[in-house]
Amino acid sequence: MRIDYLLKGNWPSFSFEFLAPRSPSEVERLFAAARDLRDLDPAFVCVTCRAGRQAETLSMVRKIKADTGIETMAHLVCDSLEDHDLERLIDQMRGDGISNVLALRGDRDENTHGSGDLSHATDLIARIAGSGEFCIGAACYPEGHVESRSRAADLRYTRLKIETGASFLITQLFFDNEHYFRFVSEARAEGIEVPIVPGIMPITNAKQIARVRAMGASVPETLERDVLMRADDPDAVAQFGVAWASLQCMSLLAAGAPGIHFYTFNRSPATRAILGALRSAEPWKWAKDAIA
Ligand code: FAD
Repeated sequence: MRIDYLLKGNWPSFSFEFLAPRSPSEVERLFAAARDLRDLDPAFVCVTCRAGRQAETLSMVRKIKADTGIETMAHLVCDSLEDHDLERLIDQMRGDGISNVLALRGDRDENTHGSGDLSHATDLIARIAGSGEFCIGAACYPEGHVESRSRAADLRYTRLKIETGASFLITQLFFDNEHYFRFVSEARAEGIEVPIVPGIMPITNAKQIARVRAMGASVPETLERDVLMRADDPDAVAQFGVAWASLQCMSLLAAGAPGIHFYTFNRSPATRAILGALRSAEPWKWAKDAIA
């Protein structure tokens, strides 16, 4: 089923993101997490994508859907992709019965320098939308994308993603909900009307602080202090991270966010704990209306 329909019909909707595995043991870990999370009844699950490895993500998505019966979405990155490669991938999506795709440029490293026929997510969205067959989502950045001149410029490109064919947005992770609320209100003022699903990552180890900063997410001083204070005790860091993320989700859903997209890193315990608490507390009942 198309995710834009799921987002309209199920409020709130919970979704889980898995990292594309790099080895047979990582494949096993992904499937173990997916099976363990299945009974939480997610609206959909998705698998990330690496430049040059797009076909592997599509195959993984097909296998997860066949194995778990959960609705799926494939991430598709366009960095280093030529037009004829994309045609092949679109054929593969048709053949594999994949109807949802998160269209991205992709993270850049020493192997991806922006070569290929498609420079930006907007190019990819326009090409996929041209086929008229797929539900397309896109990424957005409440604190602005790391390469952006300004948040305003980034917002204009976000609007272009919708104008070229994306029908929902998933945010980069953030740790202070004010970034999300401000972004949603700026997006609405910019004419962006589609659902904006907040992406949430519970901190589960102290090293993640530096990594998330490099991705452009700011880390509140109090969060950093409390994580570093527990750095010698991994269980305590994970428990604190789950507590922080649970409070974030409570306030987002109470304010009418359309759901939560969990960055699971292919592990189930933190997501299970947070979603269990949310389903008990039902903060969406306090919301007057969906804001996003
Ligand atoms: P773009 O939209 O192309 O944006 C990149 C930069 O260019 C931004 O600064 C933007 O403001 C600017 N820009 C956008 N459009 C234009 C335009 N038309 N003309 C000029 N400038 C423009 N990375 C992966 O490698 N694999 C994944 O599976 C993956 N999944 C993700 C899932 C989510 C929910 C999110 C939020 C991010 C994900 N990423 C993933 C990271 C993402 O690929 C990087 O943040 C990447 O740097 C930008 O991707 P994008 O699709 O937003 O690119």
